[in-house]
Amino acid sequence: MTLSPRILRPTVIAIYLALVAAFAATVAWVALRDGLDRLGERGVADLSLASGRLTGELQRYRELAVFFADHPTLMPLALAGVAGGPNADALLLAASDRTGSDRIELVGRDGRVLASSAGRTGQNAGMPDYLVRALNGTIGFAHMVDPETGRRMFVYAAPVFSPQGPVAGAVTIRLDVDTVETASRGEVESTFFTDASGVVFVSNRDELVLRSRSAGSGGTPDVPADRVQPFPPLQEYQVAGHSIWAIQAGPYLPALALHLTRPLPVIAMQAEILLDAAPVLQSALMQTATAAALCLIFGAALFILSERRRLLVLRLKVEARLNAELEERVAARTRELTLAQADLVRAGKLSALGQMAAGLSHELNQPLMAIRSYAENAVAFIDRGKPQTAAQNLVQISELARRMGRIIRNLRAFARQEVEGISDVDLGAAVAAVLEITQPRMSQEGVTLDYAVPPEPVMVRGGEVRLQQVVLNLIANALDAMQGREDARLRLWIEAEGARVRLYLRDTGPGIAEVDRMFDPFYSTKAIGQAEGMGLGLSISYGIVESFGGKLSGRNPEGGGAEFCVELASCAGKEAV
Ligand code: ADP
Repeated sequence: MTLSPRILRPTVIAIYLALVAAFAATVAWVALRDGLDRLGERGVADLSLASGRLTGELQRYRELAVFFADHPTLMPLALAGVAGGPNADALLLAASDRTGSDRIELVGRDGRVLASSAGRTGQNAGMPDYLVRALNGTIGFAHMVDPETGRRMFVYAAPVFSPQGPVAGAVTIRLDVDTVETASRGEVESTFFTDASGVVFVSNRDELVLRSRSAGSGGTPDVPADRVQPFPPLQEYQVAGHSIWAIQAGPYLPALALHLTRPLPVIAMQAEILLDAAPVLQSALMQTATAAALCLIFGAALFILSERRRLLVLRLKVEARLNAELEERVAARTRELTLAQADLVRAGKLSALGQMAAGLSHELNQPLMAIRSYAENAVAFIDRGKPQTAAQNLVQISELARRMGRIIRNLRAFARQEVEGISDVDLGAAVAAVLEITQPRMSQEGVTLDYAVPPEPVMVRGGEVRLQQVVLNLIANALDAMQGREDARLRLWIEAEGARVRLYLRDTGPGIAEVDRMFDPFYSTKAIGQAEGMGLGLSISYGIVESFGGKLSGRNPEGGGAEFCVELASCAGKEAV
């Protein structure tokens, strides 16, 4: 089944556009995936760096707590379970100032503060979990919001072991989260650390601090629910195996971010990072647009080329049709012209016939009169009993009758419509036949004929009747031109040269008035009203000679008069004269 171009083209275009769209989608997906993969690799490194920094920082305070648990000044206080004096407090304050911790305290087994950098000695520290753990012999750790100041704190508690073994008390170190965060505030990437209840406890972005993603925000005894706020509006998507966040949290957080997490069991938190994904998206869009544009340009070029080809084919078709029409019209016109020419030939013949009628009637009349008198004389001779003489008269009569018959035969042959094509004809015979017809006019007008009859046939290519018509036209024109002239002389001669045979006719008339125009149809210098002045003779003759493959020309030779030449193709194998 073949589709018409009207359906085929839109279909092909639609398929191509669909393919381009599919290709563009593939490019977009691959570019996005690769971009996110690369961003992810960087993010993992950044995240482990941030995690390492936080845990490293905290580790220092942990070791400080352990260090003070063995301190010779504090140990006796713990063993005795009594509050230390200003000395112990001063020691802890100095350490606290040096290490940047919020406060360092020695707590007894009963929860009483035995020494404090913050001057709380004697107060009851209560029994929070981390302290219980330390009093149980392990290192306690906690994060919390200070109920008094509202500041976020990390706390380490290290057990103070008595020389006998049991735990005598604990050293606690509190650390303000702000001091830990300060260093990372200016970082490009947004990092944050979320506790087990889903609350962001540490972050280099204030917008996220103490925010919770989980609905009804967990809250713990250390981080009370009333201090926790909901997370900024957030949509989470999965793109090529990556978690993408669309988050509205002000100018310092990327609106579109790759979200990575990493568990941090040392501090019972989860480290998280948000990496700006907009550049990845932009680059993917750019690559997609470039690929699609290239495909479309390529397609458009192909389309334009194919359109051009189609139009060219269409134009060629139209041209071919127009050509065919033109040829048909030319053929029709040629047919019409051929018919018209045939009519003209006929008209020309009639004119030539009319021209000859006068001469012929004279020529036929003469032998008729002679026959009549020969016959009358023959009757008289028979009456007188001279049959011999009468018989001579009868011979004369029959001779004259034969001559008349020949003239009439030539005339008939001339008037006949020639339908046959081109064959081998004898030029000498054609000239002889025409001379026979024109003889009477020539002798009547006193024209001297100068013509040597060729001894052998001069065979040329042509049509017998048409050839005679041409020669008759030329002789009639010559006689017309010489009419009323003294010394009227018509010279005919035949020349053969290679493959061409030429018949020349030269008269002693006034010469051709306009050589350039004489072959034009209806060009005539003969007075209107005369039977011969149709102006068709030469143009028709010209056409006839051309149709034989020959050439008709005329000129005014030196010495006066006009000279015409009929050039024809000679017949191969025939000897030309
Ligand atoms: P027509 O004889 O009817 O005028 P032709 O076509 O035979 O038409 O001749 C065209 C013209 O060519 C003539 O009128 C004459 O002017 C010129 N012409 C033809 N033959 C001769 C000639 N032998 N001598 C001078 N002029 C001639």
